[in-house]
Amino acid sequence: MIALYIILGALVLFILIMVIRALLVKDTAEQPEAYEKPQIDLDAAVKKAQGAIRIPTISMADENASDKPFLDLQAYLEQTFPLFHQTAEKRLVDNYGLMYRIEGTDKSLLPGMFMGHQDVVPPQEEGWTHPPFAAEIEDGCIWGRGSFDMKSQLVSIFEATEMHLRAGKMPQRTMYFCFGYDEEIAGNGAKAMCKVLAEEGVRFEFIFDEGMNLLDASMIGIEGPLALVGVCEKGWVNAKITAKGKAGHAAMPPKETTAVSLAKAVVKLNKHQMKARFTPAVNMLIKSVCPRASFKYKLLMANADIFKPLLKPILLRISPATASLLRTTMAFTVLHASDAANVMPDESYAIVNCRVNLGEKVEDVKTHMQKVLGSKYEVELLALGQHEPTGMSDLDSFGWRMMQKTVGEVFPGGVTAPFPFVAGTDSKYYDSLTNCTFKFSPHITDAKYRAGMHNVNEYFKVSDVESDIQFYYRFMQNSCF
Ligand SMILES: [Zn+2]
Repeated sequence: MIALYIILGALVLFILIMVIRALLVKDTAEQPEAYEKPQIDLDAAVKKAQGAIRIPTISMADENASDKPFLDLQAYLEQTFPLFHQTAEKRLVDNYGLMYRIEGTDKSLLPGMFMGHQDVVPPQEEGWTHPPFAAEIEDGCIWGRGSFDMKSQLVSIFEATEMHLRAGKMPQRTMYFCFGYDEEIAGNGAKAMCKVLAEEGVRFEFIFDEGMNLLDASMIGIEGPLALVGVCEKGWVNAKITAKGKAGHAAMPPKETTAVSLAKAVVKLNKHQMKARFTPAVNMLIKSVCPRASFKYKLLMANADIFKPLLKPILLRISPATASLLRTTMAFTVLHASDAANVMPDESYAIVNCRVNLGEKVEDVKTHMQKVLGSKYEVELLALGQHEPTGMSDLDSFGWRMMQKTVGEVFPGGVTAPFPFVAGTDSKYYDSLTNCTFKFSPHITDAKYRAGMHNVNEYFKVSDVESDIQFYYRFMQNSCF
């Protein structure tokens, strides 16, 4: 009986400690200030975005691709934003990489950078309800390739800067603007611009690139939208797994052809994934959301260190998106055996696209695969497109505080949370030039809206043109002007 009382007492004490920890959680985020939102001529801004979408800047896959759309877009930007172009110093890097610089009045401040890309992925041939480069407006949306990723956002950066310049202001902080021309394929434009900046010894207070959006988080009791700001980027590598054997006639197949052997390897690897972990970025995500969540979620998050062993399998199972936050992902995308139905190949291979978790290295993927598969299989990491995970942005920095402040100001009740970005952006190449990178596109989205990206019937809400301009305008005001 006494033992029961002791157990009950310990349980009550344990719960009490968890409740106290939840009650003691403090919101340390930079608080918003009241400010006067500028008037935006939305019709004019939307027309500017439509004009940019109508120029089909499909990433140039080879030297035979026409560069005319890129020249057209650059001429269009000059004509549409004359004040910006009169004020900024413009450089073309690697022919089509657009780099601008507006000199700040205070030389003691490190520059800030706003970046993005001019190119779009090719449109699918069929399935468009509106022609991909017509930028038609229907149901409050601009329809077309690049409307979401990221012509509207690109135009918003120019528009927001011009609004400050039109008001007769010059920035205190030097501002750079870098727009690559092949973000969707190789990132050569960004690499070349980064090289130039590194040679000139430029370092940045922050770099603000495209990335994740704001989501509805009412489910966990957060009133305003939740801004998921990418503060790091996973690594990227394609691994090739080869099963070798003897070629031969398909009429007398051995017990295990190379195709069968490969299939076994794929199943085995799919079952033995790389280890899931709570990285610092995920821990900070939980910490940022916790103060503003409803009590039951606050209780869970304030005691995340206790609940993590329970949370991990849930997050791994809930959805591919939550699973991808915790571990290196392996997507089996190419399987190749024979080219003919009656020929047994002497080797079969699979290509696995891997997104490498923070805290791991590209080489760890090979070590893991080889360990799971044994020496019977050859594992090779392909060089093309390979890159290590980036470092994580400094969340004690000026840039991060201004990001938190701006989110709360432009989206009342909004909460800013760091987010490990799982897709690819050009800003990963600039990682050595700053310790504060944001991968963030400042509009509220849901899964259906984001699914238009790189897909047929891509669209962008007209109201989000306003939201992007307001956000960039205020962020620039908080950080540069
Ligand atoms: Zn993009």
